[in-house]
Amino acid sequence: MSFKAPRGTRDIFARDAQDFSILERAASEIFRNRAFIEVRTPIFEDAGLFLRSIGQETDIVSKEMYLFEDKKGRKLALRPEGTAGIVRAFIENRFDLSFPEGKFFYGGQMFRYERPQAGRYRQFNQIGAEYFGNASPAADAEMIITAFEILETAGIKDLKIHINSLGCQNCRPLFRSELIKYFSSKTDLCSDCVNRLEKNPLRLLDCKIDSSKFSGVPAMSAFWCPDCRENFETLKGLLSSCGLSFETDDKLVRGLDYYTKTVFEIRSGQDTLAGGGRYDNLVKELGGQNTAAVGFAFGTERVISAARNSGSLNSFAQKEKVFIAIADEELFKEAFAFSIKYSKTGGVCVSGPVNGKSLTSQLKFADKIAADKTVIFAKTEFEQGKIIIKDMKNKTQSEQQLQNII
Ligand code: ATP
Ligand code: MG
Repeated sequence: MSFKAPRGTRDIFARDAQDFSILERAASEIFRNRAFIEVRTPIFEDAGLFLRSIGQETDIVSKEMYLFEDKKGRKLALRPEGTAGIVRAFIENRFDLSFPEGKFFYGGQMFRYERPQAGRYRQFNQIGAEYFGNASPAADAEMIITAFEILETAGIKDLKIHINSLGCQNCRPLFRSELIKYFSSKTDLCSDCVNRLEKNPLRLLDCKIDSSKFSGVPAMSAFWCPDCRENFETLKGLLSSCGLSFETDDKLVRGLDYYTKTVFEIRSGQDTLAGGGRYDNLVKELGGQNTAAVGFAFGTERVISAARNSGSLNSFAQKEKVFIAIADEELFKEAFAFSIKYSKTGGVCVSGPVNGKSLTSQLKFADKIAADKTVIFAKTEFEQGKIIIKDMKNKTQSEQQLQNII
């Protein structure tokens, strides 16, 4: 009998796994610099939380959620995204009452039952942030700039920022009814779009099947109230003042129901790496105080793969791997102590020594574990305070003073 990892999941080893921790570390550094604090929420939540926040008509809730009942019959779901859980935690811990603002970041696994393909998994990772209590477009700008900085730090080139505003409760209803009018006259909509038309017509703009058919569709910008228009202008001014270029994109709506006003995406080529927006009503809708909020998330796997495609993985550089070998068995203890001390420097990654192998088979072993260099402890040289360094790539060899190495 043999087992395989479930469809849409994968095992991540070595350099691939390391890319995750390096990216997460770089992101958390950037978040901390801007006074975001880390939050870790449960991987499963009450299924109703996602229904209420993300919305029944979204792809995530209608098709992609991993739902299950526990032994007490509680209806739970594996989290498909991070925001809902953080908003729940924010309210449950009464942060909405005690702090004037809350800035949180997170990273971790998300689960969506989607058809697996390149860059699309059933278990994947996101890194994201939520900023509560600041209704100003300055908070939107700060989130966009922070997301951009993380992607830039990962070495990704050709980054494009797309922004739009979905309006507020004053101007959006008008736009909504215009959209319904426009789409109702279309006869060739896909079945999903037909279903969404009455409940959430904005979502049609995001439809991967139909979106090419929508020339002449009304633009939200034509319906913005003065407030939303001014907000959007301020946002653009703030981004420009920080040297960021961006595109305004009338058709950008994002997949989730809770967004209001600013929405944004950061893309590299065809790939959407990060998405986010403002959701000023969600905290109240989930039982908290009226609290403005803006958030974003990016797909960690997609960011890593874009970073690799950009070919500039400076911040992802591997450490040199050094194997410690012994030509004389009696030097094992010295070699072992050196190995531990050397690895503590943090400058290289160190493996060995191993017992009971001839030097030839130790060198073969070093090749197999892809060591860049082998440090050889041999009696004659060791007595002069020296070790031998063998370069495993070009097979050259040199001697060095042991004390100089560390
Ligand atoms: P898409 O249109 O690609 O399905 P989405 O709108 O569902 O994306 P969000 O819910 O905004 O995506 O999630 C933010 C980011 O998470 C995406 O931009 C993407 O990088 C990543 N992401 C989403 N779904 C997956 C998945 N199934 N596998 C890997 N990464 C994903
Ligand atoms: Mg999706």
